[in-house]
Amino acid sequence: MGVYRRLEAQLKPVDYKSDIEPTWCAGCGDFTVISSLTKVFSELRIPPESIVQVSGIGCSSRAPLFMRTYATHTLHGRAIPFAIGVKLANPELTVICNVGDGDLFSIGAGHNPHAARRNIDITVICMDNQVYGLTKNQVSPTSREGLYGSLTPYGNIDRPINPVAQMLSFGATFVAQTFSGNPKHMTEVFKEAISHRGFAFVNVLSPCPTFNKVDTFKYYREKVKDVNSELPFLEYPLVKEKNINEEGHDPSDFKTALELALHDLDHYYNPNAPVPIGVFYRKEEETYEDRVSRVKERYKAVKEPTLELLQSFINA
Ligand code: SF4
Ligand code: MG
Repeated sequence: MGVYRRLEAQLKPVDYKSDIEPTWCAGCGDFTVISSLTKVFSELRIPPESIVQVSGIGCSSRAPLFMRTYATHTLHGRAIPFAIGVKLANPELTVICNVGDGDLFSIGAGHNPHAARRNIDITVICMDNQVYGLTKNQVSPTSREGLYGSLTPYGNIDRPINPVAQMLSFGATFVAQTFSGNPKHMTEVFKEAISHRGFAFVNVLSPCPTFNKVDTFKYYREKVKDVNSELPFLEYPLVKEKNINEEGHDPSDFKTALELALHDLDHYYNPNAPVPIGVFYRKEEETYEDRVSRVKERYKAVKEPTLELLQSFINA
């Protein structure tokens, strides 16, 4: 479990909210993200002083201000390295990054593969509105082709990146997608992600009603389907191969997770394609923090390190 300290007496979700009223626009998708997070903190009985939320820059990065936990509002794109520092300094903390699609997949993109492949025990929550909202409407790495932005008057000419497929290929041990218009689903996914011991990534489809008039609540509400329980994905070859009937996708199956993720952006090009949400992948694996202390301990007695000896420490 990624939760190391628990309260005996449960606090209410409201006890995890700060006195600062959210400054987001009315109808912003990010409101329900903090409601779901505070619900999960309460359900998991995490002491507020054991939670550190780290954000970068963007509308979504204001989220920690509105909750009563420790928090750091860092530089653009640098939430992950700050979070890693916090976690390594005190591995018993529950460390969460609240970031946006521009922050995580453009400015800070270089940090993602390394945090994921090392399996650092942090949870990264990306509020993905497919646009830069704080700077008033520029297209982001997840914007669909053709989307209008203040710097792209002819529409976005870049191909969008695929957050779920990227994080799977980087080696994240927990990868999920949810929708801020479905708080029940989002709460369940956050609970699993925060409880996971290792690098957890959740992409939240979180509409920006002020600037993105295409990827709206209405749009997603009609399209999202849960890969773990709904089955409009049966024609995908690997899903078909498994002959899944009623049970949905098994998150321990990496290849099928990747296949489902590779279809994640189909809806940008095909109006009939569903948008997959749910837990794509989950795997128990030694965390970076545990590996460091184990290898250090075994190294103490070594006089002459050889490649074989060191490899035997790492892989034991
Ligand atoms: Fe939310 Fe968009 Fe307003 Fe930012 S600009 S607070 S993302 S609705
Ligand atoms: Mg954004």
